[in-house]
Amino acid sequence: MQVADLPAIEARIKRAQDDYLDDDLFNRVGRYFRADSMRIGGIYGLYPEFNCAQESSITFTDQRKRVLLGTNSYLGAASHPSVVNAALRAIQRYGSGCSGSPLLNGTLDIHNLLEDELAAFLGCEAVALCSTGYQTNLAGLSALLQQGDVAIMDARNHRSLFDGVKLSGADCLIHRHADLDHMERLLQRTRGRRRMIVTDSLFSMEGTIADLRRICDLAETYGARVFVDESHAVGVLGETGRGVCELQGVSERVDVIMGTFSKSFAALGGFLAGREEVIDYIKHNAGGHIFSASLPPSVIETVRAVLELIRNEPERRAGILERARYMANALQEMGYNAPYYGSQIVPVIFGNYTLALAAYKRFMDHGVYVNPVGPPAVPEEASGFRTSYIATHSWDDLNRALEVFQKHRRDFGYGDR
Ligand code: PMP
Repeated sequence: MQVADLPAIEARIKRAQDDYLDDDLFNRVGRYFRADSMRIGGIYGLYPEFNCAQESSITFTDQRKRVLLGTNSYLGAASHPSVVNAALRAIQRYGSGCSGSPLLNGTLDIHNLLEDELAAFLGCEAVALCSTGYQTNLAGLSALLQQGDVAIMDARNHRSLFDGVKLSGADCLIHRHADLDHMERLLQRTRGRRRMIVTDSLFSMEGTIADLRRICDLAETYGARVFVDESHAVGVLGETGRGVCELQGVSERVDVIMGTFSKSFAALGGFLAGREEVIDYIKHNAGGHIFSASLPPSVIETVRAVLELIRNEPERRAGILERARYMANALQEMGYNAPYYGSQIVPVIFGNYTLALAAYKRFMDHGVYVNPVGPPAVPEEASGFRTSYIATHSWDDLNRALEVFQKHRRDFGYGDR
């Protein structure tokens, strides 16, 4: 793990002061370092380094093992033997990468197989793959929206959704988080224009779940399309792990479902799913799909192997939610502001990012890794920890983490409900 190296930080601040004059474009770099109170205060702890697969607990490069409450590998699939072997076999057969766009020399038989399998799994007509989840949102939204169109967005949507809309040139109208009356007013105000409602299904920082049923009702009433980012929900929520669309019975009413392979699928990449002609349009018009090399074979076979786990081992999903509920209850009993909305994500809200960073370091010292979150990922008042639970968390590890939460609360007292 990196630790604060104060002389190095001071040297960098001095260099920033000396090197970047007012009319230099890099002046903003200098200003950033001069104002970097996290580093100056010695509480910087981002980019922690470890050297193993993401499990219930992991060993960092300082040789200390810590309970991991901050991974998105929700199914605990990253080191599952069937997954690792599938990736190894793929490299042996197809080599390390495709070195080409999917449109040209980048499509292997297994790319098409995965698209078909995902489409069947999601109950959609077709799927297009992209090389990261972030890029998937840029590709999908910039292809489907254009200048003059309107995107109606939840204020807490993922950054990649905002960036996708920006890239498209469409007008971006934002409603308060989960405030569908506000969404409806925006729909009323934009009558007669081409509109897309764009939303996360399971909000990654808050753990809240969108009311997709009402969103689809509103879309029907006002003639808008619906684009749903299911990144955190696929593999975890819904009877067969298809996500919130399945959980709320709206799979057929949503126009485009987006997902990523960097969470439950323990790999990298993303997909867009929908009607055949919509996906075909994306495959021939989305810059992020066409002008970027296709996913390497080891990733494709990893994702196919995890898809098989999702289909064959439903107990994993139940185990994730059981653990999250257990932790949220215990944290609430201790007096933490740790709301539970029915998913694997449990925020622990401190309301102050500096406090969250200081607590993060303390938890690291006591053998627990959590993700500290603050601006710009969430507003300052929602700053705190984002804890997330996985199918393979051992109960011993979770109880050990709870002891650290208990100690922290006794010693510091903040994080009140
Ligand atoms: N959408 C959401 C809701 C996300 O949380 C993320 C990643 N945090 C992404 C898209 C981007 O996915 P990736 O990290 O796979 O690029």
